[in-house]
Amino acid sequence: MNDLVLGSIADDFTGATDLANNLVRAGMRVVQVIGVPAGPLDAQADAVVVALKSRTLPPHEAIAQSLAALRWLQAQGARQIYFKYCSTFDSTAQGNIGPVAEALMDALGCDFTIATPAFPDNQRTVFKGHLFVGDVLLNESGMQHHPLTPMADANLVRVLQAQCRRKVGLIGYQVVAQGEAAIRARIEQLRADGVGLAVVDAISNDDLVRLGPALKGMPLVTAGSGVAIGLPANFGIAPLSQAGALPGATGHQAVVAGSCSLATNRQVQAFIQTGQPALRLDPLEIAAGQAAGTDAAAGALAWAKPLLGQGPVLIYSSAEPGAVRSTQEQLGVEAAGALVERALAAIARGLVELGVRQLVVAGGETSGACITALGISQLKIGAQIDPGVPWCHASSEAAPGQGLHLALKSGNFGADDFFSKAFKYLT
Ligand code: ADP
Repeated sequence: MNDLVLGSIADDFTGATDLANNLVRAGMRVVQVIGVPAGPLDAQADAVVVALKSRTLPPHEAIAQSLAALRWLQAQGARQIYFKYCSTFDSTAQGNIGPVAEALMDALGCDFTIATPAFPDNQRTVFKGHLFVGDVLLNESGMQHHPLTPMADANLVRVLQAQCRRKVGLIGYQVVAQGEAAIRARIEQLRADGVGLAVVDAISNDDLVRLGPALKGMPLVTAGSGVAIGLPANFGIAPLSQAGALPGATGHQAVVAGSCSLATNRQVQAFIQTGQPALRLDPLEIAAGQAAGTDAAAGALAWAKPLLGQGPVLIYSSAEPGAVRSTQEQLGVEAAGALVERALAAIARGLVELGVRQLVVAGGETSGACITALGISQLKIGAQIDPGVPWCHASSEAAPGQGLHLALKSGNFGADDFFSKAFKYLT
């Protein structure tokens, strides 16, 4: 039997590494698996994060995948389940945060859970149920223009209630500030009022550390990655300053960006301004090329090949909201997303086949597509580059017998110079 105490289900791949990163920093030995493994866990770990790509699936598919992950985690002995979603509460009009949370509650026989995307290290704070990104409300943060999950309301109680059958309530800041006993009392009061899920305010890491003990024994926690900092102590595990060490880096360096979030757009511009090679992919040109029988991925790889070895190259489809809207009007929202993801995934695979061994991928959905194309089933989590983004190490079918360093960056994470600075951490 292994030592597993915490079983996590993440709704996208960058979110999974973000959570794994926080758990590692809080002292846990963590394994991240891609999708639900066919066999038992073959490593000693305190926590396992199952990375799904379920954020934008139709709710019934997201539920089916999440329940399969739950059953596998239970079979490995997980004592508490953590459903991880984005720190900007990314959801479609149909869900999937509410529907998946409720399906997990039903399966676990759990009548109450919390919901909070707060991640103060990355300026995501929740106050009076409203989500702030830095100094502005979620719906003014750029997230209102997200290609797949536009967030037009910062009131999380309202957003979650629209996705849930159960009543949604709030554990407000005044309660959180008083600590465990007050939080537990508020939970009992909400339960008595028939509330099944409660959004929790948190504006600092201290709030999350105060929240942690009140979650001891709760079968299901639903949250961004921030809540993870307060949970390991419930299992007698103390924080570490050093994340797990990874093998030494080798090979060429590349960045693949399919995120159109504000931070990624800034990072793309910052990289271009350094004078390093960057290739922009336009979805309309990819579609037109496809119709004419040309392959955008092959073209991008032919561009990159002679440049590899001279330093990092960037291949990106990232675009400003106006351009994204116009593309979506012509191709359809889902078709445009899928077209770009397929192209970038083929490019990521091709780059690794050309000798890239240090790869940064920007975008949650994009990372999911790239990891799948690379045939990666498990990630080891290493040191953090910026909050929420660690370097990871994996074996890939595209480079048999050789390790690959990967950084999976959620769209809005990372400093402007992330695409250059990430590689400096490995050298
Ligand atoms: P983030 O982490 O910023 O949310 P994602 O990769 O999760 O980024 O989502 C971005 C989505 O937008 C992906 O489905 C991607 O294929 C799509 N996309 C990327 N570039 C464009 C573009 N220029 N026009 C329309 N959609 C795009």
